[in-house]
Amino acid sequence: MELAVLSKDERHRVGESQPLPECYLGVSADELDGRISAAQAALGERLVILGHHYQRDEVFKFADCSGDSFKLAKAAAERSTAEFIVFCGVHFMAESADVLSAPHQKVILPDLAAGCSMADMAAPDELETCWRELEELGVTDVVPVTYMNSAAGIKAFCGREGGVVCTSSNAAATLRWAWARGERILFLPDQHLGRNTAYGMGVPLDAMVVWDPHQPMGGLRLDEVMGAKLILWKGHCSVHTRFSVTQIEQLRRTEPEVRVIVHPECTWDVVQAADASGSTEAIIRQIRESAVGSVWAVGTEIHLVNRLAAQVAPDRLVLTLDGLGCLCSTMFRVSPNHLCWILESLLDGEVHNQVVVPDDQKRWTRVALDRMLSIQ
Ligand code: SF4
Repeated sequence: MELAVLSKDERHRVGESQPLPECYLGVSADELDGRISAAQAALGERLVILGHHYQRDEVFKFADCSGDSFKLAKAAAERSTAEFIVFCGVHFMAESADVLSAPHQKVILPDLAAGCSMADMAAPDELETCWRELEELGVTDVVPVTYMNSAAGIKAFCGREGGVVCTSSNAAATLRWAWARGERILFLPDQHLGRNTAYGMGVPLDAMVVWDPHQPMGGLRLDEVMGAKLILWKGHCSVHTRFSVTQIEQLRRTEPEVRVIVHPECTWDVVQAADASGSTEAIIRQIRESAVGSVWAVGTEIHLVNRLAAQVAPDRLVLTLDGLGCLCSTMFRVSPNHLCWILESLLDGEVHNQVVVPDDQKRWTRVALDRMLSIQ
């Protein structure tokens, strides 16, 4: 199969990185470091590199600003002098940056195959079908809420239908906002973030149902939907659902002092078994502010855990919950080779891999994001 002719979605499915010009293959790490630094310096103020916490170190070290997806999207909007925003992250993040950035700015994703398996679990046409089927059931008092980790088409739908975007940091406030405007919420694409957040707000599990987009009427009966406060889209993160209660129990046996902190994209039973849960920024903050010598087991992507252990909190013991690997393979596709190619091309006047959200989607995505920003 010739990868060069595959679309972005097809590359996501076959699990391949975007092919590079041959001269960018087989280059030593030292040479790549030198060439990236030189190109970054030559581009100066025209360039800002954003790095998500889950990026590999060889790429992350070049970031002018690091953070979670929302912090980075806001950073993109604030760097209005930069002509090029190179987003070392995944596709939905670059889309949000494009929506929030100024018209003269170009948002670039170093590897267009860097998608997100969770975002791919909710396609705009599936959401349109879900909405229509709910209407056919007579269920119209629904407010759609989408996690930041979704395609621009999903965010735009939420903006158009009176809904909103949320992040893992503000999910509870966002759900409160939505329940003030409708009897029930359709939350997508991550069922676990929705369930964990609502449960933490006191909503019982039996007031939540799961909508399976691959089944007629989501696989639900009318009485099930009518009895629900929260309709959860059947989506998940393939990295965070790797963590298990068994892993937590084993660690508590070998490290009795351990405090377990996990991301709310983990399953409900894992969040219940942990000592704390929170967004990537909250995890970093809590460990950074913990006592010297404390022991932590972290349930999130391995690059962040390793960085916490080595750089953020070297005088605490920071362990991963999953010793067999919890790598986000799509984040990993952004390689220093891709970054070098992108930057050197910019110096030559060539823009590769620009991510552009169509104007109609941009307008409604902006509405959904602005609503989120207005929620205290
Ligand atoms: S960690 Fe999960 S939600 Fe985040 S980009 Fe990877 S697959 Fe998507």
